[in-house]
Amino acid sequence: MAGERLIGVLGLQGDYHAHGRMLEAAGAQVQVVKKTGQLPQVRGLVIPGGESTALIKLMDAGDWWEPLRAFAKAGNPILGTCAGMILLAGEVLNPPQKSLGLIDATVERNSYGRQVQSFEGVGTFGSGKQARPVPMIFIRAPRIRRLGPRAKALAFCQGDCVLARQGPVLVASFHPELTADLTVHRYFLGMGA
Ligand code: GLN
Repeated sequence: MAGERLIGVLGLQGDYHAHGRMLEAAGAQVQVVKKTGQLPQVRGLVIPGGESTALIKLMDAGDWWEPLRAFAKAGNPILGTCAGMILLAGEVLNPPQKSLGLIDATVERNSYGRQVQSFEGVGTFGSGKQARPVPMIFIRAPRIRRLGPRAKALAFCQGDCVLARQGPVLVASFHPELTADLTVHRYFLGMGA
């Protein structure tokens, strides 16, 4: 059916076009979502990186909080990267700020140090024989400080969990849309989006 795999990319702020290109490369059709009324048209949503404080203001102005919680409760997959992860977390530190609370995780904003605001690394996705290297770009990135028992760690970099999932919610502290590696977007589409 046409539109069956239509995936939304939240287009309020941040690098949402790059996510759109990656999702298309992974075989999805993409729609930029700028109003809550568009949510019923998509079967999954990416909340991109950017600045979480700016996103919070825009989400307040557009009354996004309850529609996004309902969207996840209905089982629609949501991927949040960097600032998107901060918005999805259960608890935010440095400083504390409001969030959607859709994954039982505590995240610390700007946690990778002042002098190294951004870095590229190679992380490991999967475990055992399935484990493979994935290039990862961190930009003023949040760190996952705690993961609840219902959340699953899916990738690590330099000893930290950097990709985690709880039900339909997937979060990454890095920017998978800024490399050519489709691992995270393919995994997201495989979540039923
Ligand atoms: N430091 C930003 C914040 O706290 C996130 C940075 C990013 O999304 N690249 O919101």
